[in-house]
Amino acid sequence: MNIRLGNADLARYPFLNEAAEYMSQTYFNLDDLNLPELRHIVERASNRIRNEIIHGKPDYSLERHEVEILTFLVGILIIKAINSDNLTKKHCLCEALRAEKFLVHDLKMQGELANKKLLVFKVFKELLKMDILPSLKYQLMFEVKVTDYLKRSHLFHEQEWKLINRLVHDGRVFLDPDETVRLIRSELANLLFERIGQMNPSHIPTTIREQANILRSILPVAPRRLDHAPSAYPPCINHALDQMAAGENLPHSARVMLATYMLAIGKNIEEIVSLFENAPDYNERISRYQVEHLAGERGSHVRYLVPSCAKLRNDGLCFATSQCEGLINPVQFGRAVKSYSKKVSV
Ligand code: SF4
Repeated sequence: MNIRLGNADLARYPFLNEAAEYMSQTYFNLDDLNLPELRHIVERASNRIRNEIIHGKPDYSLERHEVEILTFLVGILIIKAINSDNLTKKHCLCEALRAEKFLVHDLKMQGELANKKLLVFKVFKELLKMDILPSLKYQLMFEVKVTDYLKRSHLFHEQEWKLINRLVHDGRVFLDPDETVRLIRSELANLLFERIGQMNPSHIPTTIREQANILRSILPVAPRRLDHAPSAYPPCINHALDQMAAGENLPHSARVMLATYMLAIGKNIEEIVSLFENAPDYNERISRYQVEHLAGERGSHVRYLVPSCAKLRNDGLCFATSQCEGLINPVQFGRAVKSYSKKVSV
């Protein structure tokens, strides 16, 4: 697919090869980042990462393509200099969320601007080796191969992502623009994570090191390690923890499962809140409130039980193995649990 990218496209998708080509044509040198003229770019990239650390959210502002491409590059250099796996994952997820917004916008374009969709197809094809086609049957719907769909949708727990709940015809799944792009969010984030890992800059300019040091000082302290070996947890809990570690945005039902399970095996509020630190939308105050609510320390002062295996199966959160045979609740897995004083089913 040969599509000519405009400058505005490069600003929105600075991770495409064309953006790197653009940079090589400008004879940009890493030490240029120490120049006062580029100070605003370094600060812009640094502020973007600060926002990701504090609020767990991407910055969606859009500047000229030169500024955006450089901000993207400087952001990566700062991340490399900080050298924190967790922050790198968070940054990649935020970049993926940012791209997601633009991709959805472009997929929804109609009329004269509909050729923007070709650009989205290019992003899917070039980066993710995945074909998407505009549906001839349904307006503003897109088709992806069932195999491509299944490869990605297994990451989602919600019922709506189960193939049985999708419109399927002739080996293709129909998706709306939001769903089409949501399907690849973690893949895009993983791809960026891989690229950052492979990047090997000759050196890190002084201004970048300075910003890295400032940002390192506001990183949250490493989450407390829970004293259970992961193998002591039931598969549903291990799966949710793995998803969290991968920076996936767990659905509410999975968060309730995780928090109530940890409460049931005697973890304290601090330990449980820290589990969610890796969530892209992490907000310490809100997480604490929610965990305290589930623990019965807020609102109705009723402590919530861990959802049953049947409910978790129904919510797509069960990943049973042979060790789960006969269980009706995850708390029965492997070890005795604390009893509740006030209980309510969820
Ligand atoms: S059977 Fe129960 S404990 Fe096992 S994975 Fe499923 S929900 Fe979890």
